[in-house]
Amino acid sequence: METQRLRIAMQKSGRLSQDSQALFKSCGLKINLREQRLIAHVENMPIDILRVRDDDIPGLVMEGVVDLGIIGENVLEEVQLIRASQGQPFAVKTLKQLDFGGCRLSLAVPEDVTYTGPESLAGKRIATSYPGLLKRFFDEKGLGFKSVMLGGSVEVAPRAGLADAICDLVSTGATLEANGLKEVEVIYRSKAVLVQSPNPLSDAKQKLIDKLLPRIQGMQQARESKYIMLHAPKDKLDAITDLLPGAERPTIMQLAGDTNQVALHVVSSETLFWETMEQLKALGASSILVLPIEKMME
Ligand code: ATP
Ligand code: MG
Repeated sequence: METQRLRIAMQKSGRLSQDSQALFKSCGLKINLREQRLIAHVENMPIDILRVRDDDIPGLVMEGVVDLGIIGENVLEEVQLIRASQGQPFAVKTLKQLDFGGCRLSLAVPEDVTYTGPESLAGKRIATSYPGLLKRFFDEKGLGFKSVMLGGSVEVAPRAGLADAICDLVSTGATLEANGLKEVEVIYRSKAVLVQSPNPLSDAKQKLIDKLLPRIQGMQQARESKYIMLHAPKDKLDAITDLLPGAERPTIMQLAGDTNQVALHVVSSETLFWETMEQLKALGASSILVLPIEKMME
């Protein structure tokens, strides 16, 4: 029986869990995730959150077991490539790229190995958990290699004599360095995405999704935006406005007891760098404030 509650899958514990949880919270979902339960009920909306291994999410979404899921593009793309190579279809709808879970899938070799390009690895053994993405990269270069599939601890493979190179996810590069490896090629860049099942949804569920998406959009936009306030000499207003990055039309207000200056308030799509603030000050601006914005709706 189809549940009337919208089902969303997220990673139970791992690199995407905290940010996924924070995203739900910022969209106004009240969830009690403290218990070690597979399904968490959202108290104030008809939504259930399913907490699973990230590898299970593409399948659950594709089969329509859940309506939505949050997953790394790397996993999504890999599943798609593997299924395609087996002649199986894979169709999920990507609703939105999210602003967390950023990482890259990179080739890395032992520090003492000379690398002059992908041809340096032709015919070599490469350990990875992402054979599909790795094969696509070498296929596009017209090069062959030997894939060594490892579900985890990929970074120890060269030292253990299992492989000549690795292809693994990197964010800071600290793990590579700790294992005596150097990153030589980025083959895929990934972020977390919100995906939807290809199955048709009830009107009620679709309405709920249409309500959640602008909230997610508003949170992401707010995180990137700043509220800027400053005092400006009237005769420098144009020059000052020109310096504000990606700003909308500013609000200008009178200052009590001051006819030469005005207060300028504006929402900017980027932060103000110190350099710009110094330029603004040089033009005569003062009391420059850059404030974070919590939420936005346009
Ligand atoms: P699970 O137990 O759910 O299978 P996992 O070990 O497969 O977890 P994590 O290491 O938690 O997965 O990574 C989940 C996702 O986080 C990755 O698929 C990727 O999209 C993203 N990610 C962001 N930064 C990194 C990183 N430095 N290393 C690995 N994954 C990262
Ligand atoms: Mg996993």
